[in-house]
Amino acid sequence: MVAPKGACGLPVVATVAGLTRHLADARAQGASVGLVPTMGALHAGHLSLIARAVAECDVVAVSIFVNPLQFGDADDLAHYPRALDTDLDLAATAGATVAFVPAVEEMYPDGPGDMTTTVSVRDLGDRWEGASRPGHFDGVATVVAKLFAMAGPCRAYFGEKDFQQLAVVSRLARDLSFPVEVVGCPTVREPDGLARSSRNARLSPEERAAAAVLPRALRAGFDAMVEGEYRPAMVESRMVQVVEREPLARLDYAALVRAVDLSPAASLLDGGPFRLLVAARVGPVRLIDNLDPGEDLPAELAAGVPAQERGA
Ligand code: AMP
Repeated sequence: MVAPKGACGLPVVATVAGLTRHLADARAQGASVGLVPTMGALHAGHLSLIARAVAECDVVAVSIFVNPLQFGDADDLAHYPRALDTDLDLAATAGATVAFVPAVEEMYPDGPGDMTTTVSVRDLGDRWEGASRPGHFDGVATVVAKLFAMAGPCRAYFGEKDFQQLAVVSRLARDLSFPVEVVGCPTVREPDGLARSSRNARLSPEERAAAAVLPRALRAGFDAMVEGEYRPAMVESRMVQVVEREPLARLDYAALVRAVDLSPAASLLDGGPFRLLVAARVGPVRLIDNLDPGEDLPAELAAGVPAQERGA
């Protein structure tokens, strides 16, 4: 099957049947398939996922679909950045071999609001982001299950930047026996530590500078643990203090959780692995970030933390 070509030369498939056929044909010829689900407005974080998929798979499909089912906030959906032509160029340059760009009606023929079958990942999907954005992970899990069903056997690449999403997606692949290996990829950051995100484009220069408070809060929690603090509440309060000192940021949560199920850590003496999570609203957007306190600090977080935030 010859898929239509986009301006950049990347084959672009707009239909579910087209994607399924394209990838089945590739597999029939012995190719391994990589899938990189995105909502577009591609940046270095997405490109790192594509690059990893290209290194590990013969055929790499990048899906670009702003999924209405996972947006509770109509304003967030309406203002979500879109840049399809640039996205196709970037995906092609990064080595993707096909783009899947369906219309909303193709993904949800009866309309997203009329889906009668949806996927819900209990507990894991109910806390943190799930509590702050009711229905969000049902929307994510449902669209990812649909993409997995369309793509067939493959490796699927997701960012640790959305750590809870990675956990939800890994769990749904296992629970529902999808022939998909979920691969987590490290967070790509700006030089000041801010995680790359499509939503960063909506920040004013002042808000953009203030947003670096998220990685600084993670660093403060990390430092507290390195200094030997073993009480989760104390680690969390160090993170909270950092965010509360930034007038343009409004904290949603700062938490130390068990990495396996994102339940609150009872004590660091129980053994890890753990994860530090933070979410805050800065200007018009909600931003999230997380850190593995059991690994070396990412280089962008290692420099430039004010002394008072190190607890000095
Ligand atoms: P999105 O387009 O925001 O839905 O993201 C698509 C994929 O890219 C998800 O698996 C995200 O976790 C991943 N991603 C987004 N930002 C980053 C980042 N800064 N570093 C690594 N992966 C990212």
